[in-house]
Amino acid sequence: MANENNSNTPKKPRFSSWWIYGVVIALIIGFQFFGGSSFSNTEKTTTSELQEYLRNGDISKIIIITNTRQAKVFLTEEALKKDVHKGVAEKPLFPSAGLVPQYVLDYGDLQIFQNEITEIKKENNLDTIVEFDTESNVLGELLLSLLPFALIIGIWIYLMRRMSGGASGGAGGQIFNIGKSKAKLFDEKTDTRTSFKDVAGLEGAKEEVQEIVEFLKNPDKYTSLGGKIPKGALLVGPPGTGKTLLAKAVAGEAKVPFFSLSGSDFVEMFVGVGASRVRDLFKQAKDKSPAIIFIDEIDAIGRARGKNNFTGSNDERENTLNQLLTEMDGFGTNTNVIVLAATNRADVLDKALMRAGRFDRQIYVDLPDLNERKEIFEVHLRPIKTAETLDLDFLAKQTPGFSGADIANVCNEAALIAARKEKKAVTKQDFLDAVDRIVGGLEKKNKIITPEEKKTIAFHEAGHATVSWMLEHAAPLVKVTIVPRGQSLGAAWYLPEERLIVRPEQMLDEMCATMGGRAAEKVIFNKISTGALSDLEKVTKQARAMVTIYGLNDELGNITYYDSSGQNEYGFTKPYSEETAQKIDLEISKMIEEQYQRAIKLLQDNKDKLTELAERLLDKEVIFKDDLEKIFGRRPFEKEEEELEPEPVK
Ligand code: ATP
Repeated sequence: MANENNSNTPKKPRFSSWWIYGVVIALIIGFQFFGGSSFSNTEKTTTSELQEYLRNGDISKIIIITNTRQAKVFLTEEALKKDVHKGVAEKPLFPSAGLVPQYVLDYGDLQIFQNEITEIKKENNLDTIVEFDTESNVLGELLLSLLPFALIIGIWIYLMRRMSGGASGGAGGQIFNIGKSKAKLFDEKTDTRTSFKDVAGLEGAKEEVQEIVEFLKNPDKYTSLGGKIPKGALLVGPPGTGKTLLAKAVAGEAKVPFFSLSGSDFVEMFVGVGASRVRDLFKQAKDKSPAIIFIDEIDAIGRARGKNNFTGSNDERENTLNQLLTEMDGFGTNTNVIVLAATNRADVLDKALMRAGRFDRQIYVDLPDLNERKEIFEVHLRPIKTAETLDLDFLAKQTPGFSGADIANVCNEAALIAARKEKKAVTKQDFLDAVDRIVGGLEKKNKIITPEEKKTIAFHEAGHATVSWMLEHAAPLVKVTIVPRGQSLGAAWYLPEERLIVRPEQMLDEMCATMGGRAAEKVIFNKISTGALSDLEKVTKQARAMVTIYGLNDELGNITYYDSSGQNEYGFTKPYSEETAQKIDLEISKMIEEQYQRAIKLLQDNKDKLTELAERLLDKEVIFKDDLEKIFGRRPFEKEEEELEPEPVK
């Protein structure tokens, strides 16, 4: 069973506390022995006795300690020989501790005590010396001087415990456990169980991981036909698509021990620890085989070796990776341990790690499509109290490009928005607000914008809307707003077609629509502004991609400088000549300029409509497709709604 004999249960780190107790006790004993009060072998006396001794002329000196209200009494040589004073210490136990008084007494009021002594001295004509002093707090000073050492020892113990994994609940609390693996063994009883039902969509990926569990449960079914059980499966995909969730489902459903840890758990400041942790992890898994090991974010250790290693500082990571390679497919590794790993950077992983025999299977976990998004909504709407039966198709359509994590966030955000408005249940509008919030950021209605700026923003957004309405391949508009959100001052939302391949004319139309904002400013005010920064960034990237990645430029021809393996990223050197670099720059700026001029021409021809739209926008702040239809009429190349999928674009 997965939960038995869990060697990773944190043990109480005992040695450190014993250490501290030991040091404190030693300090106290030491203090008592060496620094103990110098009065320890001194007789106590009373004020009346003192007065008597003084009258008798037995006292040579009195030291009045003002801060402790004590007085030290020193006898004369003659008095020491008297019977009354027999037995009082003559010498200090340790000469270095200073001369020890024969008597010590506690006085009450200093003034009264001092007056009494002066009076007796006067009456008897005595020359007894009376001095004043203060007693320093030996114990306090000693402890104070030891404080830095105690602190250093404390910090040292803390660091040792951290390094040995004691603090994080890893493999025990002792320094000797530093090389032990930090993997967490899934415990069916205490850990929340995730099942395959909680993973929506991802049918292909689910099937593959389910099969892996099956391999371990019924190996004979596969090996009887001569097949071998795969060693590992790599889950690859963009962030938030459910890779970790899939692994959690495997842990919840597989009836075999499931060890999980992150790639960075192997990394430590000491050389050799990573490799040793890998060894320990596999040893633990083999002991409990059949078992599954899950390494999240494997790129932390699995990056290609021998690259960008100018300083040689990555040796430790390479050692760790080498050990992982050996454990997965080296000599004598024929055990029933399957390694599941997840990453969003498969391109940077070492080739040796990816080869068949190690990660035999690569499972792509992609961003969800329309139907998958609908299913994910279903999963995350389960705990949410909705006011009406929500149209899941509609919600899925409103969230293209969203990952599973984004959708989970939309549902949560919608519930929060509804709660903020004191509603009893979540409505469709709350979901739409949540989508807007996630895509565009928080609405900032109170942002200070001058009327002139507002006008510029309105024309800028109206420019985008007008140009995209006029162009065949540009995505049609859903809504335009001039309410500032997050970083942007206004936004236009589109309904793009879901395309698997894109043609140059489609890309150019999109670039033209993006330049529509700045073009409108130019046409109306004959001035341009900084407001087009994000548009310029977008078109520049698009143009560069057309020229250098997709080979869509006539001048440069059918060539790409893209390297999908990611192993030869250019760094300082470019994979083309200086002459080509100039050509690329020229083509990019030519392309952008052409689209800008095209947008200007379009807007000049439709200046009235642009102005009407901008005015309506200034008036209403948010306008929808219907308003555009009223101004421009129906788009001639408009396709049926069902064929389209919306994508919010800022
Ligand atoms: P990363 O690569 O950033 O680690 P990931 O792919 O491992 O991301 P997860 O941690 O699995 O992403 O997903 C994050 C959250 O998104 C999950 O906890 C879950 O709530 C939600 N989620 C993602 N995909 C799905 C899905 N297919 N079905 C249901 N929920 C999902």
